[in-house]
Amino acid sequence: MQLSELGYSNNFRDMFHDYEDGDHFPGRVSGQERRQYRLMCEQGEMPAVAAGRLYHKADDPEGLPAVGDWTVCRKSDAGDLAVIEKVLPRASSIQRKSAGQETIRQVLAANVDVVFLVSGLDNDFNLRRIERFLTLSWESGARPVIVLNKIDLHEDISSFIDSVESIAYGLPLLKVSALNGVGVDGLHEFLADGLTGVFLGSSGVGKSSLINHLLGENRQLVHEVREDDQRGRHTTTSRNLLMLPGGGLVIDTPGLREIQLWNSPEGLKRSFDDIEQLALGCRFNDCAHEDEPGCAVREAIETGELDRSRLQSYRKLQKEQAYLERKQDSRASRQASREFHRKVRTFHKQMKDLRKRGLA
Ligand code: GDP
Ligand code: ZN
Repeated sequence: MQLSELGYSNNFRDMFHDYEDGDHFPGRVSGQERRQYRLMCEQGEMPAVAAGRLYHKADDPEGLPAVGDWTVCRKSDAGDLAVIEKVLPRASSIQRKSAGQETIRQVLAANVDVVFLVSGLDNDFNLRRIERFLTLSWESGARPVIVLNKIDLHEDISSFIDSVESIAYGLPLLKVSALNGVGVDGLHEFLADGLTGVFLGSSGVGKSSLINHLLGENRQLVHEVREDDQRGRHTTTSRNLLMLPGGGLVIDTPGLREIQLWNSPEGLKRSFDDIEQLALGCRFNDCAHEDEPGCAVREAIETGELDRSRLQSYRKLQKEQAYLERKQDSRASRQASREFHRKVRTFHKQMKDLRKRGLA
């Protein structure tokens, strides 16, 4: 495998220079499942682990390797694994931050050159959401490209284009249909040799369909990598860094797919402002719009003012949001507990030192 095909720029080459000692080699993280990593390097793809030191140093998950990272590695003693010893400074990173909990920042994809912000020209189309994704990609350091998918659904898409240009004037804008392939070649332009892209957008906008187009014949290779370990059992690790046959790479991780709702209870309310407005007319403040008397939302469905499917989609997204918040809370408490134990260990160590020196 050519490192340049994997996105190894001169920048990383220079940074690796200090580690050029014959034992170490550069590799790019291509998959991660908990503490198991996959790595792409000159010799091909191999399983990897992060050196223990990285876990001790990493008070926050930002310091650990993430998919897309360039790393300094060596072979494990048994030679069957790569050990990641250092994460080279990231050129860009897409992070998940949780509201009000500054401590938790998780890198969902590293060293991303271009973010495709995908919208479907159907009921999903939402300018506020595009704005939110746009903010996120500016923060990441990658270049945003707006992709309007499902153009096959409309004779005339000029009103969509006008409204997108009102919030993102001057940004590249691609009009595509993953269904019939129209315009999809335009994506290649942004993924010339060694450039890495991610696709962001709500579920259902066509991200998988577009990625499959780019992968062409390779599509069946996506995601699942099976291998035998020594005990003959099967372990699976997702492959999240995908090499495209036309050059370029795509990162597709479950975390990136969840990002739509992260940090966005407000955004969700705003996206469904019509329902929130109607709900103000419900008799009960906490109306669930199910079988409560005096429900203005159900009434609007009966009169045809509100589409039932829109209420269903709001409920679905609210549930997902609640799920993500619970997950985030448990992650936060695990983090707090690790932090606590680390402090206890440091304290014991200090006490021991003091005792040794006869000071306590
Ligand atoms: P993802 O959740 O963003 O990965 O979206 P998918 O790629 O799974 O697509 C969601 C649905 O939209 C599927 O039923 C696709 O067949 C459909 N779809 C994707 N692209 C297009 C398109 O360009 N036009 C139309 N009409 N449907 C599309
Ligand atoms: Zn109600």
